[in-house]
Amino acid sequence: MERSAVELASEPKVGDALNEYGLSSSATPAAQQAERAAEEPWGRDWRRFPGWSRVGEAEFADPNWQERNAIIRPEQLRQLLGPMTQSGLLADLEAGLKRAPMALRVTPYVVSLIDWIDAPADPLRRQFLPLASEMTPSHPLLKLDSLSENEDSPVPGLVHRYPDRALFLATDRCPVYCRFCTRSYSVGDFTEQVAKQRNAPTRTRWQAIFDHVRANPDIVDVLVSGGDCFRLKASQIADIGDQLLGIPHVRRIRFASKGLAILPMKITGDAPWTEALCRLADRGRRQQVEVCFHTHFNHPREITRFTEEAAGLLFERGIPMRNQSVLLRGVNDSPEVMARLIKRLSDLHIHPYYVYACDLVEGTEDMRVPLYRVCQIEKAIRGITAGYNTPSFVVDAPGGGGKRVVHSYDAYDRKVGLAVFTAPAVKPGVFFLYPDPLQDLAREVQTAWSDPQAAHAMIEQVIRTARDLAT
Ligand code: SF4
Repeated sequence: MERSAVELASEPKVGDALNEYGLSSSATPAAQQAERAAEEPWGRDWRRFPGWSRVGEAEFADPNWQERNAIIRPEQLRQLLGPMTQSGLLADLEAGLKRAPMALRVTPYVVSLIDWIDAPADPLRRQFLPLASEMTPSHPLLKLDSLSENEDSPVPGLVHRYPDRALFLATDRCPVYCRFCTRSYSVGDFTEQVAKQRNAPTRTRWQAIFDHVRANPDIVDVLVSGGDCFRLKASQIADIGDQLLGIPHVRRIRFASKGLAILPMKITGDAPWTEALCRLADRGRRQQVEVCFHTHFNHPREITRFTEEAAGLLFERGIPMRNQSVLLRGVNDSPEVMARLIKRLSDLHIHPYYVYACDLVEGTEDMRVPLYRVCQIEKAIRGITAGYNTPSFVVDAPGGGGKRVVHSYDAYDRKVGLAVFTAPAVKPGVFFLYPDPLQDLAREVQTAWSDPQAAHAMIEQVIRTARDLAT
């Protein structure tokens, strides 16, 4: 049906919505450049740190140097930053690490991107370095394996939740450790809080996984993750890819890595690794099997000239790339930041695929965002660019319901901060609960959540509402 000019004129325009959030839908290249410069007023040069003042460009761009100089202890930061360290920051970090489920590990590249003058507010610092002063009590619904991956693992290190696809946990190591890692039960070194369930990168362990995939013709799609594929050797990437490409019913293989965001020089500087990936993609193409690369960028400031070079190389080699972000308070919980991230990824030909509401992970309640706010951000950014570059905002339903679009809750009580999702194609008849962060709730509701009986009553009430609405 045609609409009248009056109707069309009175409709809100995309530009209006963007202006509301201070965004421009028609930024010129010069304006974009100014925007980028404004993102880094402190300069990103690693030579500003006393400890790396003599490190040259070639050395910094060497992935082996990056690995050798990864920061795994607060003391290393003290030596590196010298007088640039804010008073009390490292003691705060040491106290935070004692309460965190994830160990400390960041690459020098990430360290160079952090604004150390205002480290507490920095969106990269917040992702990797836990400060005790910002931690708030965890939600009582939190479980260590929050997505119940172990319950859907027919073989250790393989999550087979959906009929046609499987998640292959190839390793439990990453080049950096994120505070909010869903797999904190397994990934990284042991911490004072968590003795990890190991997923070592060995062929013996992988063989049972290959056998399971081979024996299940319904599995057409395998996501190779961990941990992070960047911590696998070139020969291991080749082995996994060749084994999976040798299984006739596997039609799609995804290698997942945060590497492009936190160690992009590996793509340009580790030729055997990159060649292994590209050769698999070439072989896959000849077999009509898609081999692609999944990235994990959360903030536009993670995109630098190193990223542009690395993503450009993969694009030239024809590797499809998709990005999965996590929506994190104090990192990217604004339409303006999320829009910039999406546009910059799109320019690199990395499709913004998913934005996840943050899972429940010990010590990161301060990073979670209430569901209504996630929905608002999704609504604000939809329309800023082409649909194929617009990510789906999802909740990975705690307990194993899989990804559910944030707006698709069956019931949501904002007062008690609880949403109910169902997943008929994954686990019919089960209600999955996603709670809002405690700190966003009224004081009396927070108290009610700490009382098991009151918590049970709140859960029952929201599930009852979901049931009533479904009938
Ligand atoms: S890179 Fe991925 S797997 Fe590794 S710690 Fe971060 S979120 Fe977890």
